[in-house]
Amino acid sequence: MIANSTKMAEIRYSGRDLPSCANAKCRKLVPEQELCFLDTLWDRIYCYACGLCLRFARKRAMQRGEPIEGVEA
Ligand SMILES: [Zn+2]
Repeated sequence: MIANSTKMAEIRYSGRDLPSCANAKCRKLVPEQELCFLDTLWDRIYCYACGLCLRFARKRAMQRGEPIEGVEA
């Protein structure tokens, strides 16, 4: 999957090891085949809710011309 380097990509995770949400305050397990987000900038998996928030926050930051950091929401 090739994506814009700062993209939060909507994916369905499939693999042997189920990832947990990269948001330190969430850490929810992402069930296989469940919709979630892949942060292509940091190569992290977020659950759907956190991914949505992060994608929105990042879009706003980019609009304001702010640098994008690996912020834990
Ligand atoms: Zn989460």
